[in-house]
Amino acid sequence: MSTPEIVFAGSGGGALTQIADYEAVGGFAALAKARAMTPDEVIAELDASNLRGRGGAFFPTGRKWSFVPKPDRIAKPHYLVVNADESEPGTFKDREIMLRVPFRFLEGCLIAAHAIESKHVFVYIRGEYEQEFEVLVAALEQMKARDLLGDVTVVVHRGAGAYICGEETALLESLEGRRGQPRTKPPFPAIAGLYASPTAVNNVESITTATAVIELGGAEYAKLGVENSTGTRVFSLSGNVVNGGNYELPHGFPLRDLIYGVGGGIAGGRTLKAVIPGGSSTPILTAAEVERVTLDFDSLTGAGTAIGSAAVIAIDDRCCMVQLAVRVSQFYEHESCGKCTPCRVGTRWLTSILQKIEDGRGSQADMDLLLSVAERINGKCLCPLGDSDAIAVASYVDKFRDEFQAHIDEGGCPLHGSSSLDHVLAPVAMHTHHHAREVVPL
Ligand code: SF4
Repeated sequence: MSTPEIVFAGSGGGALTQIADYEAVGGFAALAKARAMTPDEVIAELDASNLRGRGGAFFPTGRKWSFVPKPDRIAKPHYLVVNADESEPGTFKDREIMLRVPFRFLEGCLIAAHAIESKHVFVYIRGEYEQEFEVLVAALEQMKARDLLGDVTVVVHRGAGAYICGEETALLESLEGRRGQPRTKPPFPAIAGLYASPTAVNNVESITTATAVIELGGAEYAKLGVENSTGTRVFSLSGNVVNGGNYELPHGFPLRDLIYGVGGGIAGGRTLKAVIPGGSSTPILTAAEVERVTLDFDSLTGAGTAIGSAAVIAIDDRCCMVQLAVRVSQFYEHESCGKCTPCRVGTRWLTSILQKIEDGRGSQADMDLLLSVAERINGKCLCPLGDSDAIAVASYVDKFRDEFQAHIDEGGCPLHGSSSLDHVLAPVAMHTHHHAREVVPL
C-alpha cells in the first residue's frame, strides 16, 4: 500500500519552520484558494472529502463547521478554537505536527476561520508543550510580517496541565478563565461556545489536514484511505516496539503491518500480547485480533474498539494486565475533574479494587464488584472521561479474565515480578504538569 504524506508533505522528514521553505513547497496556495471561495464552498469541499475529526470523536469536520450559524443569524463574534491540549496517554502526534509543519497548521486555522466567518482564532495548547508554543508563535510572527493573517487574530493560549481540558467544553471554560470542567450540553459550542458565542472546536491534525483538502480538492482527498475513513492519519506508535514514533499512513493500513513492518516488531525478541489501538481510553485487542483488523473506523469498531486518537500502544508478553489496568485507572482517577459522582467516586473504586487484586488481597467478590462499578460509571457521566476508565478496564477483564482470575487464585501476580510496563504507560506519579523544558532535555 502506498503511503502518501498529506499532513507532513514537503517536510522531507525535517521541519518547515521558515516561511520561505513552506512557500517553496506550495505553502499558502490553499489559503488563497479558500479565500477566493465562499464559506459554503469551502465547507462543501470538506464535506466531499469526508474528513473526520482526528482528536478522537471522528465527527465530520465539514458538518461541524456547517453547524456554526451564519453571522446574520447570531450577531455575535464567531470563534474558531483549536484543541492542541493533547494529553491522551500514548498520543503525541499533534506536537510533531506543530513542530514540523506549523505553517500548514496555521494555514488550516485561517481556512477554517474563513469557512465559519470568524475573525478570532484561539489555539489552546498543552502547557507542557513549551517548544511547540514557541514554534507556533515564531511562525505567526512570520505570517504577520507577510500580512497573511488579514483581519484575523490568532491567540496561542497555554493550558495548565489538566487532561480534562482536552474535552471541548472544559477547554472553553478554561479559556474563559474558569476551572476546567465540562459543561452540560446542549447548548453545543456551535451555538453557544466560547463567551456564549458560535464556536467551532477542532483538533490540530483535523485543521492541518483541512489545508490539504482545499489544496487537493475534497473529491481527490476522499480517494485516499478507505470508505468512511478517508485520507491519512498520523499514528503514534509506542510501547514495546522496536521503532516507536509518529507515522503518517492511509486509513485502512493493517495494524499488524504497523507493528511488525513500520514499527520493526516487538522489542527484545518478546512476543506481542495485546494492543491498545486508539489511546488509553479505547478497549484493548488481543494479539490474535491484531492480525484481523485494519486501522480505520469500521474495522476497529467492528472489533469492539475504536480508532480514537490513533495512538497505538503495543504490549509484550511480560506485561501484567492487572498492573496495566491499575495504571490506566489511576490516570483517570487523577484526572477526573470531580464534577459528577459516578466518575469522581467510581474511578477511585476501580483503582482500589484493581490494586487489591494485584496485591493478592482480592476475592471472587472483588471481581464482581469491579465489573459492577464499571457498569455504574459507563454511560452515567457528564463527559467521556469516566466512561474511558470503565470501558478500558472492562475490556482488560473481558480479554484477559484468566489472568485476573489467576491473581485471585494464586494470591498475587502470576508473573512474579517479571512483569514490565516499561515504555507502555508511565505510573501516575510520573505524569508531570511541569513544562516540558523542566522534564525533557530539549
Ligand atoms: S466524567 Fe469525570 S471528568 Fe467528566 S465531568 Fe464527570 S467528573 Fe468531570
